[in-house]
Order: sequence, then structure tokens, then C-alpha cells
Amino acid sequence: MSTPIVIMAAVFGGAAAAFLPRVADRLAVPYGEASRTACARCGRRFPAGVTGWIRAGAACGCARGARPVIASALVATVLTVALGPVPRLPVLLVAGVLGALLAMIDVRCLRLPDPLVCGLAVSAGVPLALLAPERIGTALAAGAVVGLAYLAIALLPGRGLGLGDVKLGAVLGLLLGFGGWPAVAVGLGAAHLLNGVVAGWLLISGRARGARALPFGPALLTGALIGLVAV
Ligand SMILES: [Zn+2]
Repeated sequence: MSTPIVIMAAVFGGAAAAFLPRVADRLAVPYGEASRTACARCGRRFPAGVTGWIRAGAACGCARGARPVIASALVATVLTVALGPVPRLPVLLVAGVLGALLAMIDVRCLRLPDPLVCGLAVSAGVPLALLAPERIGTALAAGAVVGLAYLAIALLPGRGLGLGDVKLGAVLGLLLGFGGWPAVAVGLGAAHLLNGVVAGWLLISGRARGARALPFGPALLTGALIGLVAV
């Protein structure tokens, strides 16, 4: 793996993520509410129109926003080092940025907005299908199996799995399915392991905020990353 390609990927991941905090801030609202029109912290109104969505760095002048940039640059680096300059790398780098946005929103308000999950499915699923048409069957089957299994879990009382998690699980099952069933198994296994470790740590450190307060999206997305690079 050549160093310039890794650096280019890391710069792409970091630079793209620099524009996420404002978008995440505006979209992290309770179900059914319109996107936020003013900063959640200081109340300053965002500019009207498209420009109100575009800001590099923190969501607002009153906040700091370096963490998404570091995290996204790291994700891009891991993907590039692990996979090398394969045709699906650009697709997965873009998916990584979208995944970072979903994780940021889920952490803030325990939601995974449908348009973003749908956007991830289309923007990554269509190019992956074009690159590997022979794997479409496995990918669709993996998406269906994961989606139905999570739906069954979500319908059980008190399991703390939301329908947003079900939909994201199905989409990640589909995307991992292009790498085969082992990638699906490793990705989901890692997601549940990570979620268990975080839940345990929150409990031990006294930061647990009730059974439903832990978002599952970040663990699902991180697990998918592990499934992508480990198999
Ligand atoms: Zn502010």
C-alpha cells in the first residue's frame, strides 16, 4: 500500500467530516420534528438556505468540532491500509463519511434518520453491485436475514432495539454481504461485542442513563468497518 494513497484517503475522510458537525446538529432532532434552525447550545440562528448547512469545523462558533475529523480520517486510513487501492475503496470511503454522520446523530438523539440510511444503502449498494454483480444475491440475502432477525428482536418487549437500528442493520448486512457471509458474521459479532463492552463500561463507571439511552448505531457502524477490513 503506497503512502500517498493512504494520506490522500485520510485527508479526504478528515476534510469531508469537517462539514459534518453543522449537518448533524441540524438533523439531531426528535422524531417528526423539522430540522433545527438555530444552534442547540447558544440559540444563534443558522443562515437561511443551503449556506446554513455548510460550515467547516464545529456546528457553531460556540462549539468545538475536531473529533469527527480525527475519527473520520482514522476510518479512512484503516479502510485504505486494509483493503489497498481496490475499485470499491472510494465507495467505502464515502460510505465511511455518511456512517460518521449517522453515528453523530444517533449519539445525540438516538435516531438514525431514514433518508440518511437510505442514502447509505443507495450510494454504497449500487456501486458495489455494479463492481461485483455476482455477489448481489448474497448481499440481498444477508440484508434480508439481518433485517428480519433485528426486526424480530425489536418487536420483543424491552429489548431496546429501535426500528432505525433494524433498518441500518439491514443496510449494513447488505453492504457486508458483498464481502460474503463471514464478513457479515464478523461485522455483526463485532457490533454486539462493542455494544456490550460500552454498556458494561457505562454501568461500571456509573454513567448508564437507563436501558434505552445507549445508541446502537455507532456500534453497528464500527462493527461493519471491522467486518469490512478483517475478512
Ligand atoms: Zn452556538
